[in-house]
Amino acid sequence: MAKVKVSTLWLSGCAGCHMSLLDLDEALVELLLDRIEIVKSPPLTDVKGHIQVDVGIVEGAVATEEDEEELRKFREKCKILVAIGDCACFGGITSYRNLFDKEEILSRVYVGTESVVDGKVPRSKYVPPLLDKVKAVGNVVGVDAHIPGCPPSPKALLYAMKELLEGRIPILPSEMASFE
Ligand code: SF4
Repeated sequence: MAKVKVSTLWLSGCAGCHMSLLDLDEALVELLLDRIEIVKSPPLTDVKGHIQVDVGIVEGAVATEEDEEELRKFREKCKILVAIGDCACFGGITSYRNLFDKEEILSRVYVGTESVVDGKVPRSKYVPPLLDKVKAVGNVVGVDAHIPGCPPSPKALLYAMKELLEGRIPILPSEMASFE
């Protein structure tokens, strides 16, 4: 049986959701041996561009213009898109900055921080511009399944993966869902 191709995307998050995926430990190894092939994933591979896959898994909120562009390209290449973690599902902790004006945040971080001397807000093509407001993944593209949590537990991620392998869109049982 052909393996299910999986790719992951890391937007504006802390990598905790990817770490939770890696915390599947032996279960991940077993999936890799028999059932899935991870063709691209930030902690595991250094592959440029986006590859057509069966399942795309996205961590993090959409906070920059680059995030939005990458997410749209990623969505085009995924038959099924799964948002993992509160940042991807709802905006999560990344969206706390929506309580403030974007320029106010940039000034506080790059100019007003007590340890900064002669600071200035970086304006460079190498620094992706912030969106005015942070968005959840589902505010930008269609999402097939949401696995919330900060991060979601490895148990919840394994459940979702097994459901997908059975051809079902995962709906997390309430005892596995955590809303931080
Ligand atoms: S949901 Fe939590 S663990 Fe996942 S990227 Fe956001 S802050 Fe990190």
